Amino acid sequence: MSWSHLLGQRAALDYLRSAQKSGRAPHGYLFYGPAGVGKRTAAVALAQALLCHQPPEPGEACGACKSCRWIAARNGLLTNHPDLIPLLKNPETEKEKVLGDQEQIIPLDTVLDICARLSKSPMAGPKRVVVIPEAHRMCTGQAEAANAFLKTLEEPPPTSVVILTSSRPEALLETIVSRVQPVRFRRLSAEDIRAGLAQGNAKAQEDEIALAAALADGSLGRAKELLEGDLGRWRTAVMKALERAGPQACPGVGLALWALADAEGKRLFEEAEQKDDEPAADGEDEEGAEAEEEAAAKTESGWKRFVFRRLLDLCEVAFRDALVTAAGAGPDQLLQPDGAKLAQALAQRFGDEGCSRMLEALREAHFATRLYVRGDLVGRMLAGRMVSNLRRGP
Ligand SMILES: [Zn+2]
Repeated sequence: MSWSHLLGQRAALDYLRSAQKSGRAPHGYLFYGPAGVGKRTAAVALAQALLCHQPPEPGEACGACKSCRWIAARNGLLTNHPDLIPLLKNPETEKEKVLGDQEQIIPLDTVLDICARLSKSPMAGPKRVVVIPEAHRMCTGQAEAANAFLKTLEEPPPTSVVILTSSRPEALLETIVSRVQPVRFRRLSAEDIRAGLAQGNAKAQEDEIALAAALADGSLGRAKELLEGDLGRWRTAVMKALERAGPQACPGVGLALWALADAEGKRLFEEAEQKDDEPAADGEDEEGAEAEEEAAAKTESGWKRFVFRRLLDLCEVAFRDALVTAAGAGPDQLLQPDGAKLAQALAQRFGDEGCSRMLEALREAHFATRLYVRGDLVGRMLAGRMVSNLRRGP
């Protein structure tokens, strides 16, 4: 884990390196931006540079000292380093258990433990560092924890550095934000995502990678989640369902999508359960873990909604392509060039107005699944909208 692992994010990276070289680096940072764009990777890279025993220059890690090798070996899992403070689940009793991203709040005990450790002198290197992922969890519904942390930020121990990350910075106390240096992380370009996916997914087909990158909305974490499922097969199913979307078949499409999500969600849930029984690989894929709150608690119904939203994403791509086809664009301008025939058919059946309204309907359906509306109802709503958005008359 070093700066070279970070994709894109040129501005953030330049700032972080130059702040270290200037000799006036802040005691606290807030890395904020969408989920799955590299905030955590950058936080670990910065921690590595700060903790390095023989930095070749300020802001860089040697990659060879004990600390650097430790961090590289742990691949982002932040425990047992003498000067990298872990987020312990229950500092009193469960010394080794680390608080994961799926926990909704960072409890007061954990925050007090972090503050106490930060106030001590470094044991091995020049600094003591804590990385707090999704730090707004300190503030949700517990003023005490946030205030305890605020005190540490107000009078930071001279050797301490605090790195907060958050995809919901608005949920952090303003007083906390005002005492750290905010660093913005942006959505990644489709090229960056494609490069990131190609690194770690030797198995994935090139066209699957391109599709995941196009659908991921700037988040590498989300793109990885898309590939985690069975994107190619889902895409074929969605395209087939939409091909049938005529006056008679429309109501069936919404329900067919939900039925597929229902079955696939169940399968993925069972697979994940089995995987959980095996020992987890250290810190594997931490961007994926950070990605999206929906990854947080993947219950069976959570997995079904996850698949359903991916299917809705695929429908959205088809209707976006239909819309640009209706506007006269050629196949080379489509998100799915091999879907040109479908795009043409949808453009003909729905017209440009109908296609725009279908895009709206798909976004609403997306939103409804986030509000925990039952999937079959969302499917039915979508089917209704499809029927009403079909072009009238000849
Ligand atoms: Zn080093």
